[in-house]
Amino acid sequence: MNRKLIFDYIVVGCGAGGAVIAKTLTDNNRTSVLLLEAGEKRDKDQPIRDSTFALKLEEQFFPEYFWQGEGVPQQGVDDRTFEWTTGRLAGGGSSINGEQYVRPSAAVLREWEKLLGPLWSPRRAVRRFKKLENYNGRTSNAGARGRNGRIDIRQAPANPTGMARKLTAAIEQATGLSEILDYNDPKTPLGPFTRWQLYQHPSGRRESSSTAFLSSDIVTPSGHGVKGRKLQVFFKSTAMRVLFSNKRASGVEFLREGKCLKAYARKKVIISAGINSPQLLMLSGIGPAASLKKARIPVVFHNPNVGKRLRNHTLNFAVFRANPNDRPLPSNDPNALYTGGALLPDPTGIAPNRRAVQLLGIASEGMLTLAILYMRPKSRGSINIQNNDPLTIVLADEGFLDNSDDMEAVKNIYKIYIKNIAAQLAAIDPSYQLVSPAPDVIDDDSRLEQFIRENFGHNHHQQSFLRMAPLKNGGVVDRRGNVHGVKDLVVADAPSFRLPWTEIRLPPPT
Ligand SMILES: Cc1cc2nc3c(=O)[nH]c(=O)nc-3n(C[C@H](O)[C@H](O)[C@H](O)COP(=O)(O)OP(=O)(O)OC[C@H]3O[C@@H](n4cnc5c(N)ncnc54)[C@H](O)[C@@H]3O)c2cc1C
Repeated sequence: MNRKLIFDYIVVGCGAGGAVIAKTLTDNNRTSVLLLEAGEKRDKDQPIRDSTFALKLEEQFFPEYFWQGEGVPQQGVDDRTFEWTTGRLAGGGSSINGEQYVRPSAAVLREWEKLLGPLWSPRRAVRRFKKLENYNGRTSNAGARGRNGRIDIRQAPANPTGMARKLTAAIEQATGLSEILDYNDPKTPLGPFTRWQLYQHPSGRRESSSTAFLSSDIVTPSGHGVKGRKLQVFFKSTAMRVLFSNKRASGVEFLREGKCLKAYARKKVIISAGINSPQLLMLSGIGPAASLKKARIPVVFHNPNVGKRLRNHTLNFAVFRANPNDRPLPSNDPNALYTGGALLPDPTGIAPNRRAVQLLGIASEGMLTLAILYMRPKSRGSINIQNNDPLTIVLADEGFLDNSDDMEAVKNIYKIYIKNIAAQLAAIDPSYQLVSPAPDVIDDDSRLEQFIRENFGHNHHQQSFLRMAPLKNGGVVDRRGNVHGVKDLVVADAPSFRLPWTEIRLPPPT
């Protein structure tokens, strides 16, 4: 380890973003990449590989696969606290998440295109999703789906249960929206459906960025690229800060199995550390100058936008008693995980062509729970470092329900959608009865608000805290992920949006 570690690129984090980038950059067998990952490769562990653990991983919390973290008390939800975590292993969040594969809708991409230019147009996005996916399912638009990409996507189950069909029929009648076959067809973004699309092999095994992009044809278990690929993966290696030479990112300081090391990049440093990316930027001197100075971190570039505008979807539930004779999942496909769902517009009729609500059926014998996500919250939070120690926890404030419009929006979902779905379900099969919230709670504003706060759950859809936008519009990175104010530093992960990985421009071979 005494020899100098010099690579063309250093990628920090081997999650949904980092694994794809490291593989893509080294495809030409000329470009060298060091990929640093704090966790280990655990693809073969049963809870990671076996999709039936997907929901248990979240509910029961398997600490061996997660970062340890908790957010600050949330005033909008009775000062409750929620976990602040993601996967700490190869594949990052994609190795432990709920496996749902949902592309952004064309309406969202059109907004991104307006802000960021044609790189983000719906047409280009579809082209890239097609390239990435190997879709194993039915569709209303074959031209929009890929069949040769590295990510296996399975539409499941092949034969939906009676429970899923009844729920879908009830949502159709309650909303007036017809059932859709493929919610990732850009032409059918809204409506109820009986089958989800999951990051899964045809067998039902979990597909992650680790299984898809760091498989044995790409990298050995010890982290060496195969067949001449100039890829080196260091597991158990935690980046602490980016090194700068003037304002150019020249390398990374990291802790590997307890030893402090430095590696250098000839071309770029790429940060794909997910929810940890803002901490890494701030520890490296990019962030609000006053906070950096207070933490005794030399300021490389003052950007007050780092860690701001944190946004997460709201999560609540409605629980129904179901017909005990209706199976939640087909007996031959427990990996199907979910019992129907829907993507719907705002129930009040605002922006009728935009997705605003996601409903997700999660069932057990005799019970059907609908997870309810409001996807257009106005509340914003922030992430702040406390000092210059990379091991000190960040203060993550998700700002849930801080904006009173969000409480109104969630109330409307119960008053309009859930109440009507409950009525239609009961009309289809009287065994289906809404038990939580009780129907009279929905009709009483103050009890409904109390229910929403107490019932509030946490999901891991944190986004936007390293916003991809011009600096003057609150941005931290430009449309290609380059960090404003410095050279050769890129952020490529969910916090800024999702980057079109294949657009990272490879320099001409030297
Ligand atoms: C429980 C759960 C359920 C979810 N369900 C879904 C779902 O069903 N569908 C969906 O689309 N999304 C889901 N998500 C969200 C999705 O997984 C994330 O949006 C996605 O993984 C983010 O990708 P990323 O590359 O930004 O970060 P991550 O995938 O989190 O990857 C970051 C990687 O960087 C590593 N890392 C972090 N800091 C450092 C450091 N300093 N040094 C070295 N390595 C570091 C981490 O260990 C991790 O491997 C879920 C997330 C969670 C946690």
